[in-house]
Amino acid sequence: APQIALAGRSNVGKSSLVNRLAGRKALAKISSKPGKTRSLNYYRVDPDGYYLVDLPGYGYAKCSKQERIKWAKLIEAYITGNTHLKAVAVLLDARLSPQKLDLELTGYVRGLSIPVIPVLTKADKPKQRELAQLQKQWQDILQQDRPPLLFSSKTGKGEEKLWARLGEYAGL
Ligand code: GDP
Repeated sequence: APQIALAGRSNVGKSSLVNRLAGRKALAKISSKPGKTRSLNYYRVDPDGYYLVDLPGYGYAKCSKQERIKWAKLIEAYITGNTHLKAVAVLLDARLSPQKLDLELTGYVRGLSIPVIPVLTKADKPKQRELAQLQKQWQDILQQDRPPLLFSSKTGKGEEKLWARLGEYAGL
């Protein structure tokens, strides 16, 4: 079945987003298969049948180089040669200008010819004008024909659009 990965820096709001999404569609947590790494969480979207794969949060400012290398290896092992992977939803903190680690991650995924679905989280925080500016900035960086989605786990903003976008990439 198709898979869409969820990635983002620690504290970007990923677990809040997953919880919020689970309020609208059934997400069945799948215990990882024997032999597969346990740091990946698989959720089957019912009844659609595709999987959301929650990748561990990366790159706390303080995290050591060794931890980063470990993360990169895990992600690489997951992504490389995974024909089920249709896109990576990269969560980006709407309160921050593009961060080095986010640029590295999006660049890496794009370099593997895997579509990036950018999602600006915590979109309840910044002013509308600042959000629009950040959307344009990311759209230019990623060279996409649509601006990043806005999402708030707090208000539910963007929830329906995100589900629609995920379904689109999952081939529904
Ligand atoms: P994770 O580390 O990426 O899983 O991030 P969490 O989901 O644990 O969220 C990190 C922090 O951001 C917590 O303090 C959340 O309450 C806060 N947070 C998450 N989503 C939102 C949001 O949509 N709006 C606001 N204002 N805060 C959020």
